[in-house]
Amino acid sequence: MTTTDLSIQNLLALVDRDRLRDTLFDMVRIPSPTGDTRTFAEHVAHLLRESSLADVGLIDTPDWPDSPAVVAWRRGRGRGPTLQFSGHLDHIHQPHAAPTIAGDRIYGRGAADMKSGLACMVEVARVLDTAGIELPGDLLFTAHDLHEAPVGYGEGLRSLLCLGIVGDAVIVTEGPSDAFHIAGKSQSVFEITLTLPGDPIHELAVSPETPNLVELGAEVISALTQLRTRIAQRCDEVLGPETLFLGQIAAGDFYNRLPTVCRIVGTWRYPPETTRDAVAAELHEVVLSTVEDRPVCVSVDGSQGNEGFRVSLDEPIAQALHAAYHQVTGSPLANGVQLFAADNGKFINWAHVPAVAHGVGLSQAHADIEWCDAADLERLAKVLLATTVEYYS
Ligand SMILES: [Zn+2]
Repeated sequence: MTTTDLSIQNLLALVDRDRLRDTLFDMVRIPSPTGDTRTFAEHVAHLLRESSLADVGLIDTPDWPDSPAVVAWRRGRGRGPTLQFSGHLDHIHQPHAAPTIAGDRIYGRGAADMKSGLACMVEVARVLDTAGIELPGDLLFTAHDLHEAPVGYGEGLRSLLCLGIVGDAVIVTEGPSDAFHIAGKSQSVFEITLTLPGDPIHELAVSPETPNLVELGAEVISALTQLRTRIAQRCDEVLGPETLFLGQIAAGDFYNRLPTVCRIVGTWRYPPETTRDAVAAELHEVVLSTVEDRPVCVSVDGSQGNEGFRVSLDEPIAQALHAAYHQVTGSPLANGVQLFAADNGKFINWAHVPAVAHGVGLSQAHADIEWCDAADLERLAKVLLATTVEYYS
């Protein structure tokens, strides 16, 4: 059978909610904290092999012996583009109660973030296999470790991309369940450090001209709040205003000792066209003009953060997802913006391929008690299947 003589509704009817529920429950019973996912990777590879995928294998991540990635192919007729499904194997290290099922709700660490998406990827492979569908291009299924900071910083995905393992378009099976993110802001985590030469000394030994870093830090904070007002005027028509957030300030270590270090940490979110270096330079300028000629060393580190992105609605994968969502739910898929870092942005920035994210929603990610309903799995699996058919039609 080919997609042209295929009834999408017949295909979607093959999605099995009970099987999805059991698949996810089996997945959450295998712990996979970031950096320790080999057993779970072997389980996922086994499931994909059972679904008749070809060339299923584990690929090691350099310097991370227990963090292999799973790579599996479903070969097509050979002419069409390769569509990739991507997920991450790891969950956060936060402890969680033992996995359980209550009704159609599966509880366990990683149930939502994001073994839900991996279970649906397996279901897509199963249904296509059962239906005997031959697609014009290859499907590529990948799952990697080292997604969750602060243990991982994308090393698993980056190493796959370095090996050239990437599709022509990518669906990350983690994300919103009811929105399409057409753009995401870049984010810099900035760290401003003011340092006074010399040792901390008693307040009575401090000369009058010596700056107090608690007071100078307050001046810098004041200057940053003025900067925040200025950058809020820079309003991207899709992403909205740039934002600056102050999250931490620390200075001094005793009530009557001279503070010698003041550290201010925060975030700046801005459109993807602005560079990280430009943001750091602007921060540096604001701090230097506040400190003026006082004898203080200033350092501004803005090297950490995430890159933003834009996805054209004309991209075939974007059009396919919109059409599929409408077919499955009867509702249009609303466009929105992504304010957090996710793997779709990494595919766009690191591999320069169009990537979209669609999942069971984000409300349960990293929660104390993490769960996913089988109905959400069924909907996601159907949307992924219909997206596949639409992409090749
Ligand atoms: Zn996740």
